Amino acid sequence: MPLSEFSAIQHYFMQDSLRQDADGVVLGIGDDAAVLAPPAGQQLVVSADTLVQGVHFPSDSAPKDIGYRSLAVNLSDLAAMAATPRWYTLCLTAPALEDAWLSEFCAGLAAAARGTGIALVGGDTTSGPLTISVQVMGSVEAGTALQRYGASPGDGIYVTGTLGDAAAGLALLESEQAPSISIDHLIDRFLRPTPRLVESRLLVNRASSCIDISDGLLADLGHICERSAVAAEIWADQLPLSPELKECSGEQALANALAGGDDYELCFTVPPAAEPGLLAEFEQQRLECTRIGQVIEGSGVRCLDARGNLIQGLRAGYEHFRT
Ligand code: ADP
Ligand code: MG
Repeated sequence: MPLSEFSAIQHYFMQDSLRQDADGVVLGIGDDAAVLAPPAGQQLVVSADTLVQGVHFPSDSAPKDIGYRSLAVNLSDLAAMAATPRWYTLCLTAPALEDAWLSEFCAGLAAAARGTGIALVGGDTTSGPLTISVQVMGSVEAGTALQRYGASPGDGIYVTGTLGDAAAGLALLESEQAPSISIDHLIDRFLRPTPRLVESRLLVNRASSCIDISDGLLADLGHICERSAVAAEIWADQLPLSPELKECSGEQALANALAGGDDYELCFTVPPAAEPGLLAEFEQQRLECTRIGQVIEGSGVRCLDARGNLIQGLRAGYEHFRT
């Protein structure tokens, strides 16, 4: 039986697993607004992302995956700023409020929140086509947020994890191929992106710029270049490709890694003097990052093959309202 707005809020959005009695929540869900207290000396970092059914996730996605994804993609934006996650609001528009759906959706939110310390502190619930809008709030020591601005010629260009898996996973999901270990891995990389929050902590005071890759490496590294007024040269044979991607995507693997969306890995630049320290730190914590190129003077992103020849005709990433 469909629930009322009030009982959905009471039963699902006020549940312990989403509120966690987090630090700094003076007043949580249930009043006209939340009251939050950021730690002294810290700055608030705020971002929002909306997920529309059929645009940002396939229409037949499981509610648990939708819940996970709604929060995870937002956490990725906090990671890109090197912010510590604190609170989030959830604006849910849905055709109806069903117990089974809400319970799975909230389990997905809780799974994405696990270990990050983030707490749900408010939102809105309305009826209409399924759309989920999450706003996250995090904090940083004053002045330490990473930005797209700041890359200089000579800086190394790095990415976390592997590239292209999610785009391949989405294509496989839609092609309904018989499952295999590799196919399942790629689909999981699409459905369950890992916000690189741990990695981003190591970038504070070391990286000169950072972005999370949601629209594909070429497009997002392009944003760093534009904001920093520099160019980027990347090397195709240095891009970190998973064995699963190579197995399942064959010739498409490089295109997926360069232009496929939804990876939610971090792309960042590091001045030469900071590179050894940063790499040592990644290694010590058993975290992965790969140097894929360097910042140069000029504008735009160019990709070279193993012989140093320019790869022509590359397509950048996804854009809403593309004309
Ligand atoms: P108002 O009518 O004053 O806007 P609402 O009835 O919309 O209040 O919301 C009541 C409380 O429930 C508020 O604290 C609001 O932040 C919270 N809330 C509503 N929808 C959600 C949701 N989807 N997730 C989390 N909190 C919600
Ligand atoms: Mg309201």
